[in-house]
Amino acid sequence: MASSKAGSALRADWLLPSARATAVDGAVDVHFDTSGITGIERRAAGAGGAMLLMPPLANAHDHGRGVKTLAYGAQDAPVEAWVPATYTLAPLDPYLVAATAFARMARSGIGCAVHCHLSRDPRTLVREAEAVSRAARDVGLRIAFVVPLRDRHRLGYGPDEPILQRLGAVDADAIRARWLRPLASIEEQVAVVDEIAATCESPTFQVQYGPVGVEWCSDALLARVAQASRANGRRVHMHLLESRYQRAWADRTYPGGIVHHLERVGLSSPRLTVAHGTWLRPDECRQLADQGVVVSINTSSNLRLRSGIAPLRHIREAGLKFAVGLDALAIDDDDDLLREMRLLRLLHGGTGFEAGVPREAVLEAACCHGAVAAGSAGAGEIAPGSPADLLLLDLKDTMGDHGRGTLTDVTTLLHARATRSCVHTLVVAGRTVVEAGRVTGIDEAALQAALTAQLATHEPAMAAFLPTLRRYQAALEGFYEEGND
Ligand SMILES: [Zn+2]
Repeated sequence: MASSKAGSALRADWLLPSARATAVDGAVDVHFDTSGITGIERRAAGAGGAMLLMPPLANAHDHGRGVKTLAYGAQDAPVEAWVPATYTLAPLDPYLVAATAFARMARSGIGCAVHCHLSRDPRTLVREAEAVSRAARDVGLRIAFVVPLRDRHRLGYGPDEPILQRLGAVDADAIRARWLRPLASIEEQVAVVDEIAATCESPTFQVQYGPVGVEWCSDALLARVAQASRANGRRVHMHLLESRYQRAWADRTYPGGIVHHLERVGLSSPRLTVAHGTWLRPDECRQLADQGVVVSINTSSNLRLRSGIAPLRHIREAGLKFAVGLDALAIDDDDDLLREMRLLRLLHGGTGFEAGVPREAVLEAACCHGAVAAGSAGAGEIAPGSPADLLLLDLKDTMGDHGRGTLTDVTTLLHARATRSCVHTLVVAGRTVVEAGRVTGIDEAALQAALTAQLATHEPAMAAFLPTLRRYQAALEGFYEEGND
């Protein structure tokens, strides 16, 4: 519908008024401006329409990879071998990387995302954060920017030297030179978070502490982050128990339990999101639930990186709030969160008559809990006074075999068939971010072309490093398989 000075409106054939609703309402016009939703008008249903209006999706864990890992030779592999392969990417323009990633998310109906920033150099972090915040503003998404913090174990789970000793001297020197730069002090790292917040924060761009994971963070760093988060209310986002090797390392290093360890250093709180949780045990799910923690389930990522399948039954039985994260590794490598929801639901849907996760719980996870992880509590409702965050899907391609359409309901189609190709319009904070399937704020094709051209200039050097990388990955495999993790 046309916009006017007084605001804009979206017309839909059905309204899913809340991510917690179990059924859709009939045809509506929803009026909004930048202050929020200003009115909802019921209207008579037109013939043949297939537009469903619903709350946007939230991507609870991502890294904003404008260049996908598959584009530069980091093939899917066990996460311990895959991570170093991802580090071979040459430094590219952080604005282009973030803008293309956010644009792809927007075209998937994602209105807000947790962006765990990837950076190996704390000296450039503030500049990179500025570029990412500009990209978020230009594309128009709500972004939680997670500042990476780490102060130990850069090569694996444990001291770096035993891993380097598995390599020849030339390879060991090459790895050292690339990845063992001096680390900034804890105070310097925490100060960078404050600096980024002071420079970049806005109502749609929130900064969070990102201790990368217990494997890479000393007790002192974790305790310092916990203290800062308690003092200023800033959220914390970290990886936890993604793989079996992380589980084994955690059990050996923290005989009292890694989740107890998080509690002891003061990190467990409703401000904490943990990503993956693939190897959580039932008692650990209960502990995290008691502390009000959110866990981001990254189903495709866990399958692609051979991390396993998250214990969703235990998570739900414990009452642990779960959200849905793409981790930049969707099953078809396309950031399709609608398909990600389907994969999660089918994988955890139960066997026989023993039902597993219901579709409503998946929708609530994808729309509401992910937004909590991104610091946007209260998302997932379409009502007067709510923020003007709206996702309009065109479901016509899912309805070709439907006759009069009286035998099945739209919600079933949404869960069974909708994909990112259905995304028609996305409105975030009253601004139309995607219109007719295209991102409005940037020239996405031009930015993608510029980014691809940048990558091309680095390809020869990256290819030259591949043999060293392969030997390094083999050394890591030996390290973990021999139980030295
Ligand atoms: Zn991650």
